[in-house]
Amino acid sequence: MEVISKEMQRLLATGSTLRAMFEEGKRLVKEYGAENVYDFSLGNPSVPAPIQLDEAMIEVIKTSDRNYLHGYMSNAGYEVSRQAIADDLNKRFGTHFGMRNVTMTVGAANALVISMKILINPGDEVVVFAPFFLEYRNYIADFGGVTRVVPPNPPTFMPDMEEFAKAINEKTRAVIIDSPNNPTGVVYDEETIKKMAAVMEAKQKEYGTSIFLISDEPYREVVYDGVEVPFLTKYYRNTLICYSYSKAMSVPGERIGYLLMPDEVDEADKIIAASSIGIRVLGCVNAPSLQQLAITYVMDKFSDMNIYDKNRKLLMEVMDEAGFEYVKPQGTFYMFVKTPCDDREFVEYAKNKYRLLTSAGAAFDCPGYVRIAYCVPYDRIERARPFFKQLGADYGLN
Ligand code: PLP
Repeated sequence: MEVISKEMQRLLATGSTLRAMFEEGKRLVKEYGAENVYDFSLGNPSVPAPIQLDEAMIEVIKTSDRNYLHGYMSNAGYEVSRQAIADDLNKRFGTHFGMRNVTMTVGAANALVISMKILINPGDEVVVFAPFFLEYRNYIADFGGVTRVVPPNPPTFMPDMEEFAKAINEKTRAVIIDSPNNPTGVVYDEETIKKMAAVMEAKQKEYGTSIFLISDEPYREVVYDGVEVPFLTKYYRNTLICYSYSKAMSVPGERIGYLLMPDEVDEADKIIAASSIGIRVLGCVNAPSLQQLAITYVMDKFSDMNIYDKNRKLLMEVMDEAGFEYVKPQGTFYMFVKTPCDDREFVEYAKNKYRLLTSAGAAFDCPGYVRIAYCVPYDRIERARPFFKQLGADYGLN
């Protein structure tokens, strides 16, 4: 008899290709030296967190009652933090949330898993749009749910409404979207969101069910050229938002985010109560206390996006020069580049020949592309420039 569960055996066998590349990067650095490895594989923010956040942490430590700061609180989180978030959202988006609508979570990942725990019975379906953050599959599978994938829609990567409508059926409980999108960098515009909302409204009517739009938003503020990210609760009633400070405030290791549950969603009281139970029974109990309190001081402070924007512009130049086709990123710190051959082969070739580390599109259910994470020091892109050019030349692109 196997000790490890069947599901864990499956996970062990599949592993995470992104994490594997990260580990491979570390090995190559040891072998060749950091200056000779060009790692663009992981979405770990390279711009430091706003200094005001560190100052806020110190202030919280200095001024809080120590039992209050280090102790348990309501599973949903400190009231002061939830109220600060509701007030901030109301100010920015003209909404009317109260603290009851916010449950503090251990990042967006935790908010997503709690949402699945709340909504999914075995056999229920969740719709996602390829390419997507592959952990969604695991979060859905954790509760016996089935992932239904809407195929990629290049070159814009905006959801195709016909394919979307086809993916929804009477078993659909939720649709997960991620805009600004990892890995394409695309932002869904207002028109797209309105069309998606119309499809979902019609399907709810057709089947007499509640279909939740789950908006995964770790990159909400990571946008360029003044692009607007529509605030989804305004467009579709049954919307839940999974927000994270990981990327926009550069604190992925601190594990802080929240789940937003508007009063207008079906069975709102039960969903709100269920979120507290969800975080508890999933073993987190509550989000980290110091971070909950510190973020209340810095609601309007984000990392300096100009630094990523400079990287983005340079990388576009580099890709143009090398002859690669790509989706112009409007947000996040990723660029999705079309490969001239099988994407896994391309990733291996780029790594072995030039020590250029990228992530295969297959890792996002979208073969034929690679993701280049440009949350890296500017000079890494500069130094990688000739190698990208040679790589392009090897495939006859320049
Ligand atoms: N969703 C997407 C699309 C992501 O890219 C990530 C992290 O890379 C997450 C969720 C998880 O974020 P967090 O660190 O907030 O749990």
